Amino acid sequence: MSSPSPAQREPAPEAPARPEALAAGEPPRRDPPPRPSPWTLLDFYPPEDPRQTRIAPFFDALKEGRFVTTECPRDGRVHWPPAVACPVCHQEGLRWHELPRRGTLYAFSEVRGGAPLGMEEGVPFVVGMVELPGEDFRLFSRIVGAPFAALHIGDEVRWETYPVGDGRTFYRYRRATP
Ligand SMILES: [Zn+2]
Repeated sequence: MSSPSPAQREPAPEAPARPEALAAGEPPRRDPPPRPSPWTLLDFYPPEDPRQTRIAPFFDALKEGRFVTTECPRDGRVHWPPAVACPVCHQEGLRWHELPRRGTLYAFSEVRGGAPLGMEEGVPFVVGMVELPGEDFRLFSRIVGAPFAALHIGDEVRWETYPVGDGRTFYRYRRATP
């Protein structure tokens, strides 16, 4: 049996009307309950949890301020994003590879609408592709530290971590001071 579509579901019960007669002497209104983190809603199986994935050490490293990805011990290839097996030779037991903290802005754009769940309040914000010296891949990341109009391709950016707000840590790039 299929579950009902959203339109067929019962509407959420609304708070009961507050008759004016109750206005005097009523207990103070409680703050609304905290909203669940939309990040949590996006991650049904949090990749930070070692019970869910073998790339959990990537997130542990972020908390320690280290930026790492996986490297194949057989062919030396460095992967992005971190992998549990080499996508070329299928070797498992990958080792961790330290990534450079500085990069250059290869391309960028500004998100002005239609932001992903949980990021609506940050609009407008800048996202970009960052090129890392010595690595043969580019990273997609939030870019902070300068508005869209002040950024240029080739700008130097520096890696940093930030708290997501629900106990987790993620990374982004900040434009280096010219
Ligand atoms: Zn390999």
